[in-house]
Amino acid sequence: MAPSSKTVTRRTGWVTAEHFYWHDTQNWAGFLEPSMVVQPGQHFENPETKRRMQAMVEVTGLAPLLVPFRPEPVEDAALTVIHPQSYLEHLKAVCASGGGDAGQLTPVGPASYQIAQLAVGGVLQAVDAVFTGEVDNAYVLCRPPGHHAMPDLAMGFCLFANAALGIKHAQATYGIERIATVDWDVHHGNGTQAIFYDDPSVLTISLHQDNLFPPDSGAIDETGSGAGAGVNLNIPLPPGSGSGAYREAFEKIVLPALEAFKPQAIFVPSGFDASALDPLGIMMLSSEDYRWMMRQVLAVADKHCEGRVIVTHEGGYSATYVPYCGLAVVEEMCGVSETLTDPFHIHVANYGGQALSPDQARAVEAARAAYFDG
Ligand SMILES: [Zn+2]
Repeated sequence: MAPSSKTVTRRTGWVTAEHFYWHDTQNWAGFLEPSMVVQPGQHFENPETKRRMQAMVEVTGLAPLLVPFRPEPVEDAALTVIHPQSYLEHLKAVCASGGGDAGQLTPVGPASYQIAQLAVGGVLQAVDAVFTGEVDNAYVLCRPPGHHAMPDLAMGFCLFANAALGIKHAQATYGIERIATVDWDVHHGNGTQAIFYDDPSVLTISLHQDNLFPPDSGAIDETGSGAGAGVNLNIPLPPGSGSGAYREAFEKIVLPALEAFKPQAIFVPSGFDASALDPLGIMMLSSEDYRWMMRQVLAVADKHCEGRVIVTHEGGYSATYVPYCGLAVVEEMCGVSETLTDPFHIHVANYGGQALSPDQARAVEAARAAYFDG
């Protein structure tokens, strides 16, 4: 590891804050609230995965090669672009009561509202840095995550629609007409989809494990409505999908869809819960697969939107493996490679089933046909 001798080819913003680790998901066991049949434990969405990813960026020497930003919390006015004031008041009340479930499977602590305001602030700061040209792209390592958040409902550990708020900000402030999202979290990006479902200016793409969370969400026939008809793309993949299935999905659907849409910026709600070691998904990606996917997104961004890519951190619950997957993505964003060799890769890459299987190929073809052929 000699990162000090490495140079970047892109300026990458690195947005994080200690307070992100103070969002308290309480003593839920996995994703369930304690009860007489659920012993209290540790919530899957706890600080450790993100803290260890930040640590990895530090110990490899990558951090000094990035452009650091210190987020400021947004005011409520920045949130009501998507979330009604009544929802904000509900969240404040739950936090003020000491915490609890703010919606559906979304525990919060006393300070979670303010920390979520800080997370949105980080996203907006990343957008500003990218669109003013201060950096080429940016990674926001924040908690709580955002891609399940509905306008008036906290869901799946998410309070505010971080990426969607960033997209609205980019459109309102910089006059951007077309923005695409590529959500590779293992769960369906239902919140982002819902917010832009009838909006032709935002192409929302989600690759996810078929019917995982939310239930009955993310099907291939959800392609948008009204003026937004045809600009929502779901790619549900069978459980067990790995390197071959994701690459097939990118090459057959994601990249052609982006190519046709010609986005002026790309947002990546980035979850590392499609990794082979994740407790909440049953997919098989390695750090090198995440690196490959980011490389594809960056290539499209270079071609159509001057490299403008904003990544928001979403899920990923393997404290062991998230840091390596995250490091690979950030390395790719700034053009530095191999600050270390992922010691898990040789194991994960050799798992049986990494190659594209017939059922995975059929799933990809079905999603392609639903999107492109109507
Ligand atoms: Zn997820």
